Amino acid sequence: MSDALLALNAGSSSLKYAFYRQEADGHWTATGRGCIEGQVPEAHLAQVLALPGRSADLRALRGVVHRVVHGGPGFSKAVRVTPEVRASLQELLPLAPLHQPPNLAGIDAITRRMPGLPQVACFDTAFHHGWAPVTELVPLPGAIRAAGIRRYGFHGLSFEYIARALHRAAPAVAAGRVVVAHLGNGASLCALRDGRSVDTSFGFTTLDGLCMGTRPGALDPGIVLYLFQQLGLSSAAVEDILYRQSGLLGISGLSADMRELLASDRPAAALAVEYFIHRAARETASLAAVLGGLDALVFTAGIGENSAEVRARIAGACSWLGIRLDATANARGGPRISAGDSPVQAWVIPTDEEAMMVHHAIAVLGLGGQVLSP
Ligand code: AMP
Repeated sequence: MSDALLALNAGSSSLKYAFYRQEADGHWTATGRGCIEGQVPEAHLAQVLALPGRSADLRALRGVVHRVVHGGPGFSKAVRVTPEVRASLQELLPLAPLHQPPNLAGIDAITRRMPGLPQVACFDTAFHHGWAPVTELVPLPGAIRAAGIRRYGFHGLSFEYIARALHRAAPAVAAGRVVVAHLGNGASLCALRDGRSVDTSFGFTTLDGLCMGTRPGALDPGIVLYLFQQLGLSSAAVEDILYRQSGLLGISGLSADMRELLASDRPAAALAVEYFIHRAARETASLAAVLGGLDALVFTAGIGENSAEVRARIAGACSWLGIRLDATANARGGPRISAGDSPVQAWVIPTDEEAMMVHHAIAVLGLGGQVLSP
């Protein structure tokens, strides 16, 4: 029977999963995938393992691969989970207090239910390793930086997948200066030079940069001081405001969901969308400056893949950089959406973090075959 792998992508409020099987020709393909909403990782996992029609996959399972948000300064690539690795990941909890716990709960739940089954951890920070010192820097005193405070970047599995997919679709463009816009409920931009990350809009945490569903993105740090000192808010209240009540939801007072905001005729919903686009265009230009120019802009994730309107408005705000869309191609959803004579190309490429995870798991576990074309 052919081998199987299970990819688990445990977020703060959902568990995405994908089963992969190795075909006779060695290629790995997804045989089932889905997402379970809610907040109880152990119960989610029980649901995934009890899914009808999956018992053959489970019997053939050679390993489970997990998305782990934070690999800290130490993990620069995917690793097999050992007791030592698990202990190191525990030490990183303070760096990602909302996202790391469900990731680790998934690892622990598999350890309990399937002891001895190999597990692999893939990190959202790993793709950004190797930045220039000036890019990693947070301009605070040395004693504070010594506590591990620096810029890391996230969404790395998505950006790595897009870098590879763009290389397959347009190798000459992928060898140049590219900004990838991962626009989903969480959102960040990555500057790629020759397929490698050189900067991103995220920093020390997933709060920086773009306006997101419930997170504000870049914010004057004086505002956070003000919340503590003048409004007397507790750190739990400030955390809740910054991670769960701001961004599109905070501006609109209506929803964190871009679809709902685009469909609404309320002025506050329109303002939320306008701010999202304003910030995305501003950050795109900022990364184009880091790259010393721009050859292509790639849209991905829920909003980037599905909203022709948001793509057109961001591209419009970036037209001075040399981006001109082909309206028909944009309405169709790509893959290439720029006009033939546009100096800067624009693309829509659906991301696939689970495929990237399985790609890494195959290498770490030495299983052979491939999930992505080289
Ligand atoms: P993700 O986190 O990548 O799943 O993306 C979720 C976001 O994508 C939500 O804000 C959705 O409203 C948004 N989204 C999904 N489909 C569409 C669409 N057709 N138009 C606009 N936004 C969409």
